[in-house]
Amino acid sequence: MKQIATLLFSFLLVFSVQAQKPRPDAFPPVPDTLAPKVVNMASTLEEMASWDRYPTYEVYVAMMQRFAADYPSLCHLDTIGTSVQGRLILSLAITGSNPTDNYRPEFLYSSTMHGDEVTGFYLMLRLCDTLLSSYGTSAEITNLLDRVRIYINPLSNPDGTYRSGNHTVAGSMRYNANYVDLNRNYPDPFGTDPLNPLQVENEAMIQYVQNHHFRLSANLHGGSEVMNYPWDSFTSFQQLNEHATWWKEVGKRFVDTCRIYDSQRFRDVTSSGYINGGDWYVISNGRQDYFNYYHNMREITMELSSAKTLSSDRLPHYWHCMSHSLINYIKEILAIPNDTPVDITEPANNNAFRVYPNPTHGHVTVVTPSNVYHYNLSNRPAGIYFLTVEGRPVKVVKL
Ligand SMILES: [Zn+2]
Repeated sequence: MKQIATLLFSFLLVFSVQAQKPRPDAFPPVPDTLAPKVVNMASTLEEMASWDRYPTYEVYVAMMQRFAADYPSLCHLDTIGTSVQGRLILSLAITGSNPTDNYRPEFLYSSTMHGDEVTGFYLMLRLCDTLLSSYGTSAEITNLLDRVRIYINPLSNPDGTYRSGNHTVAGSMRYNANYVDLNRNYPDPFGTDPLNPLQVENEAMIQYVQNHHFRLSANLHGGSEVMNYPWDSFTSFQQLNEHATWWKEVGKRFVDTCRIYDSQRFRDVTSSGYINGGDWYVISNGRQDYFNYYHNMREITMELSSAKTLSSDRLPHYWHCMSHSLINYIKEILAIPNDTPVDITEPANNNAFRVYPNPTHGHVTVVTPSNVYHYNLSNRPAGIYFLTVEGRPVKVVKL
């Protein structure tokens, strides 16, 4: 039963040095001494009305509940799961009055898996409010909600955001409560096992995605301003994403629209404002590549503000220059062909390959849902190899 695997030596790129500047997103959390000058918190729902504060954890949860209570015909509140410390990971499902309608494509926004990157957290709450309050008055929004099922998860790492307590986002951190970087913790489709066990926050997110059929999504971060499209695991030279041309167009549209309102945005990584993730900095075990590879879903990483935690008085400006781009990005789903028809009542299939040990000194085992394969790289030089297993590339690091 053992199938023949092919070693692709042409991709042998041993410890190649990245010429790009280091990914700011990879730096440790900003020390509290460098925290922004103003972090005003809203400790009541009323204090969020002017949209120039961050919500406390209790106000955040109350806002999500309020959306569902105020617009029962448009949305309902999903609990994706709970964090290590028991905080809620919530998603507002703006799916209309008929949530079982199988015809509209499903879209997902998810923010702040790095707890200190809170611009997206704020923007997503404000997006929920705008979409719901504009239905029936704005033809653009009404048409969008009638055509797309939109899921918005403003905060996927609440323990990191509220590390200092539920009352403030000052002192937030990148990691979850186990000090694990959630964006280095997903199963890697190209072969490297994460350093840490799958964290509950990510396990819940994977389950949520498996129970839907998201055709398009975005994963919101901060620390830079750039549209980071797949793959993160490879440079474009090593392996170009099949939709790379489309991603560039999408990135350009997002950035160009934003720059109508503020010409200085999205300039700290590339002049274009978009980049192939691996050309910026190669990472393993990121969420973007996992969802693109396994879930018939297109996900981009949006880095939305150079400051991870913006001064709260700057938040309205970021909404002003990004809201149109955020809404337009949802519309991009309508141009994606549904090339694999699916019944959304059936959970999506997730057939992860397990690869171990990886890195290896020689022997490596690949377990697929139907087979177990053994390879021996003992006589090969150290480097990165790609095994073709059941038609998929599997990345193996030979020590
Ligand atoms: Zn991040």
